Amino acid sequence: MRRKIVAGNWKMYGSRSMASDLAGAIAANMPAEIDIAVFPPLPYIAGLRAQLFGSGLQFGAQDLSEREGQGAFTGDVSAAMLVDVGANYVLVGHSERRKYHGESNECVARKFAAARAAGLTPILCVGETRQQRDSGETEAIIGQQLDAVLKLNGIASFDTALIGYEPVWAIGSGETATPQQAQDVHAFIRSKLEKEDISIARRTRLLYGGSVTTSNVAKLLAQADIDGGLVGGAALTAIDFLEICAAA
Ligand code: PGA
Repeated sequence: MRRKIVAGNWKMYGSRSMASDLAGAIAANMPAEIDIAVFPPLPYIAGLRAQLFGSGLQFGAQDLSEREGQGAFTGDVSAAMLVDVGANYVLVGHSERRKYHGESNECVARKFAAARAAGLTPILCVGETRQQRDSGETEAIIGQQLDAVLKLNGIASFDTALIGYEPVWAIGSGETATPQQAQDVHAFIRSKLEKEDISIARRTRLLYGGSVTTSNVAKLLAQADIDGGLVGGAALTAIDFLEICAAA
């Protein structure tokens, strides 16, 4: 059995006090049966972790440097630094990073490697644009996104990694993938992993993201290959996020 997980990606929203209130409310009311993680803006992770140490709420970062060790890389934050402030997870290859920061599949694969080398659990984000879906390229695009990571890291690396399927057209748009559309892509992702290693494929948790709300989460997470949710907008309100966690 794969344990369900709900991850809240706060993106570049909030303030120190808002982050403290939101994470505090989540930690005080969250169900214990699933894993729950929040991904606040980087400057807030350390403070939240100190505030909520021992609560069971887990933390992640939204990005990291592909470089390991230390060095003269102004603005970069290493995986080891994220571990140092108490992060458990890191998103790699979110479509907003791919789009606004030009992150290639190979760059994403290097970030995935850097995360694992420091003991952080990467959540590899993959997904197709509307145009790619309409022209029948969904599986080809997601296949390439996965292959780049598999090529550099190998299938064994997925023993400590998760995958988030986030159709780009569903992110922040209010247009959620149907449970069947999401399940189809999740099954495709799992079948690709199965070709490399069946037992790892069966253990790897796959999350759906893209306009997850309180009203659609139950049907999405009832699908056979959907093990959790990667929630953006609805993760910024404690009541909604907790309702999503409860439904999971
Ligand atoms: P959304 O964002 O829930 O606001 O669509 C999801 C994400 O980008 O992770």
